[in-house]
Amino acid sequence: MLNPDNTFTATVLGLPRIGPDRELKRAIEAYWAGRLDAAALHAVAAGLRTAQLTAVREAGLDSVPVGTFSYYDHVLDTAVLLGALPERVRPITGELDRYFAAARGTAEVAPLEMTKWFDTNYHYLVPELSAATEFSLHPEKPLAELKEALALGIPARPVVVGPFTFLKLAKSLDGSDLLERLPDLLPLYEQLLALLAEAGARWVQLDEPALVTDLSATEQAAVYTAYRRLAAAANRPALLVATYFGRLGEVLPALADTGVEGIAVDLVAGGDADIAAAQSMTGTLIVAGIADGYNVWRVDPDRALPRLRQLRDGGAPVAVSSSCSLLHVPYSLDAETDLEPRLRSWLAFGAEKIAEIRMLATALYEGQDAVAEQLDIARTAVLDRRADRRLRVEAVRARLAELDGDAVRRAPADERRVLQQGLLNLPLLPTTTIGSFPQTSRIRIARAELRRGAIDQAEYDSRMREEIAEVIALQEEIGLDVLVHGEPERNDMVQYFAEQLGGFAATVNGWVQSYGTRCVRPPILFGDVTRPAAMTVGWSTYAQSLTGKPVKGMLTGPVTILAWSYIRDDQPLSDTARQIALAIRDETVDLEAAGIGIIQVDEPALRELLPLRRADQAAYLAWAVDAFRLSTSGVADTTQIHTHLCYSEFGEIIGAITGLDADVTSIEAARSHMEVLDDLNAAGFDLGVGPGVYDIHSPRVPSTQEIEQSLALALKAVPAERLWANPDCGLKTRRTEEVVTSLQHLVAAARALR
Ligand code: GLN
Ligand code: ZN
Repeated sequence: MLNPDNTFTATVLGLPRIGPDRELKRAIEAYWAGRLDAAALHAVAAGLRTAQLTAVREAGLDSVPVGTFSYYDHVLDTAVLLGALPERVRPITGELDRYFAAARGTAEVAPLEMTKWFDTNYHYLVPELSAATEFSLHPEKPLAELKEALALGIPARPVVVGPFTFLKLAKSLDGSDLLERLPDLLPLYEQLLALLAEAGARWVQLDEPALVTDLSATEQAAVYTAYRRLAAAANRPALLVATYFGRLGEVLPALADTGVEGIAVDLVAGGDADIAAAQSMTGTLIVAGIADGYNVWRVDPDRALPRLRQLRDGGAPVAVSSSCSLLHVPYSLDAETDLEPRLRSWLAFGAEKIAEIRMLATALYEGQDAVAEQLDIARTAVLDRRADRRLRVEAVRARLAELDGDAVRRAPADERRVLQQGLLNLPLLPTTTIGSFPQTSRIRIARAELRRGAIDQAEYDSRMREEIAEVIALQEEIGLDVLVHGEPERNDMVQYFAEQLGGFAATVNGWVQSYGTRCVRPPILFGDVTRPAAMTVGWSTYAQSLTGKPVKGMLTGPVTILAWSYIRDDQPLSDTARQIALAIRDETVDLEAAGIGIIQVDEPALRELLPLRRADQAAYLAWAVDAFRLSTSGVADTTQIHTHLCYSEFGEIIGAITGLDADVTSIEAARSHMEVLDDLNAAGFDLGVGPGVYDIHSPRVPSTQEIEQSLALALKAVPAERLWANPDCGLKTRRTEEVVTSLQHLVAAARALR
């Protein structure tokens, strides 16, 4: 039972960590480059944490998460905590170097695999475990960060990834069921809880986002047993089990019954699904995730307060919180000097979310009068946003209504293949690349100079044309069959389009961590999507003018643009997807009219947005496929549509890949050894396919023989008329030397097999 002195009212589930100006990123990269030593790096990190904790305390949170800081990734931190780093990095001396070796590899050892954190664009490192892994507790980091915060007078709540989620996200090296290791982890967590209690923690947060996924009865039983045991520990702080990214459903009441003192529930991603159950758990603190931690919109107090009151009136103590960690939003709007004031007033980044949470908690417990002025500002902003004309562009809506049901290519795929081949006249096993060529320092310098104003747009454009000319000449020399312009003009495959489309805004400093020191600046999609002018036609036609070989037009697909932006939350995702799709469709039509006969529409994020619950997946895949088809069905049957998919296990979406009806699909396979082809066959896929035969994630240059073998393997699953030869992703992160030799080998291998 909860001690009433021990509750809190306003918190967040985690804090951003890269630094308001990406100071941590820069310091870590300086450390890697040998320009900063470990002590100096630790000092930068401590300075950032202290400034952040102080600011958060001043903002009025009465429970503050600590330990969500990380030098790379919080799942990797948990592996360190539990003594579960892979064997191969153990000989590396120096804690920090061992840690970074596990994260990024060294010349001698491979790093841990990286994959997406639930349905977000954050990537975590996948722990490698087996039945033989010997766990041991290394509590130095959580203890040190707790002590640091307590010394500052912060009401600190240490945060650790919970044992179930840790095991669920890990990879089993020996095929053993890792759930069986749960009982082995519990003594370590008990020990950790005791240490944190002794050090002065009154609450500890165990993150268990895996609880919002579909769990088997066995998994559920194991979770309840585990938390009953942790709750029964004698010497421990109050326990908050934090869940996010979805609804808990039947897990919520059962978890409350285990005796933990608090449960964090995501009322944004989970909607109202858990409110009734939460209302009835009178003895458990409900940490109500009502400020969207994965998006940037200001809370509507007139929607949030009734929901919070409903929870409170059930009798349980309620704390107001973010729906998930603030890891996924930028630090503060303060740094946004260029945002249009009207749009800015609709937004809340990290610092603003904390202020909103404080405001809502005060309104809930002291009455609205206590924060009348702030509530007024919030309400005005929400109304102003709703009234903005850019949120409803009737011309776009009318065109979409008209296109309803018309989003299919005219002829069936096999007829299109004949028509297209008649025009393109490609050899068997045509060779091509995925789009980007290495982003050379010349390109980066030109971009920086343009931003600084050191060169004008015309000079920039002419430098980009030079890059394109070089890349075209290079591809001709190598002997590729379908060329690309190389994408030098694109800083990022989503931002590039967002900057040119209506309804999007860009930030100047809205960085969020994608993985390690890699940060992204997602655009903000706030209104109806319009395309004031063609976006890529100039570059593509320029490239085509330099060669007699076909040049592929290169676009980013609607689902990927959606997934890598902050998107409006006032209409269904599917509606927004259709609007983006319409803009991309218009671009394909313009490319076609300008003489581009092959157009690729990339959808690397198709898998990422897949809902966590199976029950929601079919509906998602239906609208995602529909959006892709809308974007690619405006062209004639003679125009060849390609798509590119990567980053994923394709298992659950294999049927959707068939549904895309792209004439050619290039797909990551270099590391999965072509298994994807059998899966595609099993799903009845009979279109063109280019399984990646050159792993661009590694600097290694594959030999001709190796590529030949991969292609020969592919030919067992796919007839030659449908098979393409290509790398498994874009080349922009590779060095030119590696790329040239690898592509020469690719061409030689395809020729040998012909
Ligand atoms: N066309 C893009 C490129 O080559 C595709 C990138 C991706 O798949 N993420 O860079
Ligand atoms: Zn890719």
